[in-house]
Amino acid sequence: MDGQGQGRQKVRLLDYFRIRPPAVNPDRAIINRFEQNRSMSSSSNSLEKNDIIIIGGASAGLSAALYASRQGLKTVLITKDIGGQALLTDNIENYPAFEHIGGFELMSRLERQARVFGTEFIYEEGTSIVEDSDHQHTKGFIMKTSTNKEYSTLAIILAFGKTPRDLDVPGEQGFKGKGVSYCAVCDGPLFKHKSLAVVGIGDPLLDTALLLKGMASKVYLIQRTNTPVGAKDTIRLLQNEKNVSFIYNSVVKRINGTSKVDSITLIDTKNKSKESELVIDGVFVEMGYIAKTDFVKNLVQLNSNNEIIVDKYCATSKHGIFAAGDVTDVPYKQAVISAAQGSIAALSAYNYLQKLKGKPPIKSDWRTTIKK
Ligand SMILES: Cc1cc2nc3c(=O)[nH]c(=O)nc-3n(C[C@H](O)[C@H](O)[C@H](O)COP(=O)(O)OP(=O)(O)OC[C@H]3O[C@@H](n4cnc5c(N)ncnc54)[C@H](O)[C@@H]3O)c2cc1C
Repeated sequence: MDGQGQGRQKVRLLDYFRIRPPAVNPDRAIINRFEQNRSMSSSSNSLEKNDIIIIGGASAGLSAALYASRQGLKTVLITKDIGGQALLTDNIENYPAFEHIGGFELMSRLERQARVFGTEFIYEEGTSIVEDSDHQHTKGFIMKTSTNKEYSTLAIILAFGKTPRDLDVPGEQGFKGKGVSYCAVCDGPLFKHKSLAVVGIGDPLLDTALLLKGMASKVYLIQRTNTPVGAKDTIRLLQNEKNVSFIYNSVVKRINGTSKVDSITLIDTKNKSKESELVIDGVFVEMGYIAKTDFVKNLVQLNSNNEIIVDKYCATSKHGIFAAGDVTDVPYKQAVISAAQGSIAALSAYNYLQKLKGKPPIKSDWRTTIKK
């Protein structure tokens, strides 16, 4: 999911998270202790408004927020949504302590936990980061958002994951949320009894068609090749469906419409001068996921996949900037790994701030409670 128009589903999710009070009722004494720590930490820091800004509100960002807030840091989380990629699945079976849990439920729990310990949530898109030159003695950063707001901070955790890759054809940007979608689970129900095209690569393309065929009146599967590509079982299943048609040797040239998508223009890959128009109500794009790290590429080192390179402390090449989750060069992209990295990044950022203040770092979260 990306861009301005993410469909009504996302708006509904945002509203839900904005208005919902924490569902858990933790011990008031614990909260008081953290609130006290937090105000002490803020007042000892007269230069900056925030200690930590986290960008991204999913497994990595929410876990980082929980850990940072628990350390009594003034923590702000800036995000486009709550849940990220995990919202796209209703069936997570490999997150420790849960034999089965839906992505939405898992993310709601994480969000609640972070909120309880004092994280402030801001629903915006982070667009740029600049070093704060006003601060002579301590380094700091200014985070800018899509609505031109600015937030000042001493440390940053980049946890903005991966976003669906664009198809990159004319019409796509303008019709995002007006017929162009990147999430069949989220937006499929909006296209009940409508005619749809699915375009993209690999098994995710077939899975999208499989899901949409139960809702749409017609699903056209656009394939560049002259035979279907992907899991044989799924292909057989789709080929036996009356409302599914494969269109071979074709690529999308353009997405057309006025206020919403009306059709797509296809090019024949065997005869490039041959074009045809397919009348549809929506296009589902399945082109995989990419790390959209353009806005930080001048600050932190990236690998050849545009992922942020981090060390074992989740520190980037820039002092004061940490990163966690799918957006990093961590080899396995999983919710539990993102969560673990988020926690590491938060503890490392805490130690970075302690050092700035001339205070001793911690080695682990519970160390202060051990008395010798
Ligand atoms: C269909 C599907 C099924 C999956 N199934 C499983 C599974 O069963 N088990 C498992 O462990 N993992 C699964 N995964 C992978 C798992 O969802 C990811 O590894 C995990 O979500 C990564 O978390 P993250 O926090 O690093 O990033 P993401 O989930 O990508 O979240 C990034 C967050 O950053 C926000 N954001 C992005 N850009 C900006 C910006 N510029 N400014 C502000 N906010 C921004 C987004 O809105 C989002 O909240 C699945 C993924 C998919 C797509």
